[in-house]
Amino acid sequence: MKPMGPIPDAFAASDGELVIGGRKASDLAAEGTPLFVYSRTMLDARAAELRAAMPDRLAIHYAMKANPFPPLLAHMAGLVDGFDVASAGEMRLALDAGMAAGAISFAGPGKDDPELEAAIAARITLNTESASEIRRALAAGDRLGIAPRLAIRVNPSFDIKGSGMKMGGGAKPFGIDADLVPSLAREIAASGAEWRGFHIYAGSQALDAQAVIATQAATLALAGDLAERAGVDVPHCNLGGGFGIPYFPGDTPLDIGQVGSALAEAFAALPDRLANTHFAIELGRYLVGEAGVYLTRVIDVKESHGEIFAVTDGGLHHQLAASGNFGTVVRRNYPVAVAGRLGEPPVEREQTIVGRLCTPLDLLANKVALPEIQPGDLVAIFCAGAYGASASPAAFLGHGPAREVLV
Ligand SMILES: *Cc1c(COP(=O)(O)O)cnc(C)c1O
Repeated sequence: MKPMGPIPDAFAASDGELVIGGRKASDLAAEGTPLFVYSRTMLDARAAELRAAMPDRLAIHYAMKANPFPPLLAHMAGLVDGFDVASAGEMRLALDAGMAAGAISFAGPGKDDPELEAAIAARITLNTESASEIRRALAAGDRLGIAPRLAIRVNPSFDIKGSGMKMGGGAKPFGIDADLVPSLAREIAASGAEWRGFHIYAGSQALDAQAVIATQAATLALAGDLAERAGVDVPHCNLGGGFGIPYFPGDTPLDIGQVGSALAEAFAALPDRLANTHFAIELGRYLVGEAGVYLTRVIDVKESHGEIFAVTDGGLHHQLAASGNFGTVVRRNYPVAVAGRLGEPPVEREQTIVGRLCTPLDLLANKVALPEIQPGDLVAIFCAGAYGASASPAAFLGHGPAREVLV
């Protein structure tokens, strides 16, 4: 038997059946499986808890690559202060969702000239990722006759301890090495472009409050130091994010209360160059990850060499992360349940839940303790609100995409 990750607390049961946003899983699945269900109530609750814990001065941005489903984006636009996008396609979705251009920033390596022009024309902020990108953005601004809004994404020399995916520290395709930043910041400020400040992102999926606090302190120190060396003020500073959620056995939630108090203290002792800075954090999975469930129906239950396999109509083509093939080194089980048998005790025999793809990678839950699974049962895979539908190879094997609903 292998353990499963913790089911997020907010999920309720009615007559032993999983309820998401007030609707029974079986009703939600009636129009077809597989599907992702995202709960407005849970999105609201998460944003409210975060606001309450963070200093008022801190703006909260949604990093929309975590989940760009348009109805969810429109909902998030009412909950957060800004969106961070990573392509011109995401930028268009962000604008369509009603987010103000001045509250959208665009990071990501390899922005091409049409993307730079689209971003400048839309008046969103470019978090520039190299010296040559800065020069191309300035040239694009000249062509359009619009002063581009430019920030510098800094490649910090540190990353969040225990972070799942390394995005900072050492040689990276992301951001501009700190040593090069002061002269480039001066160049932007002197160019006639609108100088927007710094974006410093040091990693993702951290659950340890002390690690987040240390990273934020280092980020503020770095921003202050770079501003001093450049001799510029910093209108905006995006402190990155990296707040994680518990996916796996033994994971415990991040203590955002501790993070918020430490940040409030840090804000009370800022270096002069940051005295009037607007600060933001950008979060993806923390805001939306736990609010989503992937529901897939069991087609077949079979036995092979003494092991039970429940074969579902879903798989890694929708929920790659649960199969362990998206940014994890060791495969561990996401939280999983049989949606119609929530109260029932597990059977003694372990069961393995797989998708319908013809590859051994398509493992949704390995050797877990669940009630006896039967054909027709709905399986719920939790923590599916972030990096699910849009981060999975939907075309692989041709079964087609999953439905998505916001309830
Ligand atoms: C992916 C990404 C995020 C969001 O990461 P999460 O782990 O989902 O919070 C934020 N900022 C940048 C620059 C990113 O690339």
